[in-house]
Amino acid sequence: MFGSITVSEEPIHVLGGGLSGLAAATYLAKAGHEVHVHEIRSDSGARFDGDFQGIENWTSERDFFDEMREWGFDPEEFKSDAFNGVDLIHPDDVITNVHTEGIAFRVVERGTDEHCIDQGFKRMAVEAGAEIHYDTRREPGDCHIIAAGPKETSAVAYGEIFHTDHPNQVSFQLNDKLGPGAYTYLIVIDGIGLICTCLWRQQSKSSRYLNETIAWYEQRYVLNRRPIKRVGGKGDFAQPNKYVHEGRYYVGEAGGLQDCMWGFGMRYAITSGVLAAKSILGECDYETEVRGRLVPLVRTSAINRFLMNRVGDRGFKMVANHWMRDQEKKGDGLAFMRWLYKPGIVWSLLWPIVKLGMLRRKRLADGRTVYRMPFRKSLSRDIWEPSVRAVEIGAQWDAIRRSGVKTSFGESDA
Ligand SMILES: Cc1cc2nc3c(=O)[nH]c(=O)nc-3n(C[C@H](O)[C@H](O)[C@H](O)COP(=O)(O)OP(=O)(O)OC[C@H]3O[C@@H](n4cnc5c(N)ncnc54)[C@H](O)[C@@H]3O)c2cc1C
Repeated sequence: MFGSITVSEEPIHVLGGGLSGLAAATYLAKAGHEVHVHEIRSDSGARFDGDFQGIENWTSERDFFDEMREWGFDPEEFKSDAFNGVDLIHPDDVITNVHTEGIAFRVVERGTDEHCIDQGFKRMAVEAGAEIHYDTRREPGDCHIIAAGPKETSAVAYGEIFHTDHPNQVSFQLNDKLGPGAYTYLIVIDGIGLICTCLWRQQSKSSRYLNETIAWYEQRYVLNRRPIKRVGGKGDFAQPNKYVHEGRYYVGEAGGLQDCMWGFGMRYAITSGVLAAKSILGECDYETEVRGRLVPLVRTSAINRFLMNRVGDRGFKMVANHWMRDQEKKGDGLAFMRWLYKPGIVWSLLWPIVKLGMLRRKRLADGRTVYRMPFRKSLSRDIWEPSVRAVEIGAQWDAIRRSGVKTSFGESDA
């Protein structure tokens, strides 16, 4: 038997009904275990409220949906749209196209509607026999799997969802002004658009960045944008010293298994949930599997993040140019993304410097030690005068908000 605990006949308790928790619960329930998932919110996906997210295909040569099928999940349970390319927007507003032969990523919707990935995973868990208890608070000490998502804030994303006439589209913009330290994006799926800005430096008014980002996209794409709501959330990048502690398995973002460079954590969440379940079933050792499979990716992404934190738009432009040259040479735009996550020796040598220079050691109440990426402070270049159009967009949103539409993300969260 692998693993540090053996759960045989006793019920298994999972803290958190997000993707990592539901993936673990489904796998265990299918194997015949009694599984209880305890979720503090009223439904799975309630944390996200209708935003689009991408499930990536660049941290592994294998298509993630094939991997999911192998684990017994049915990707047809939720709506997804596959993409083989994106518009890459350079910091100087040049737009180029990145493309690949196969599927680069799939866009899914997060939330509580039937077609959302969260609801698909919930249906699979229930069908497998897991019991999900919503609106329930339970002590982590009483659970075997901790899948409670992010705790603290290392970065935030803030977006607007709107009706649009634009055809399906994904654009990714490297821009230190509109997305401080990071990027912004536009996703359009079947008449619904999302414009989002990611802030990797803490700002007192995140809506300023979103308004300016929307103004930027409106100028480049014919969107005919009719706002519906604003959404957002935080990411927590904290690497623990252990992934199994006192008999508890830490999965997904609760276990620091998240992409520190771009925040593409869904694949890590589902994979780690499955690995924890497999470990409980004696099919592998979670600590070993996570360290062999996911930790190198997390560390490489942290090293890349460390380097990105050191450059502004000039560095982003070099990255974009290099990406395009690489695509020209290899005939595949995904190769550059795969290379970014390949933990090479030189990159690995940077790890101790990154740990010392970017992460802060913290002792948690449960006895674990984590190395956290703090939310960076704003820089003087983050203060600029908004454009006239951005001010109008802000006023438009204020009027909508006053009419009763809610955001899933308060200004104070940033
Ligand atoms: C705005 C935004 C955009 C993102 N975009 C992408 C993207 O494009 N691609 C991508 O791959 N990833 C993206 N991510 C990251 C991705 O959403 C997360 O990494 C992933 O959902 C983590 O899954 P999880 O199961 O670990 O945590 P969660 O999905 O957060 O699930 C945790 C669950 O635990 C519950 N919970 C918390 N505390 C308790 C408690 N005490 N008791 C009971 N339940 C509790 C929560 O309510 C939640 O339902 C994005 C994140 C944000 C915020």
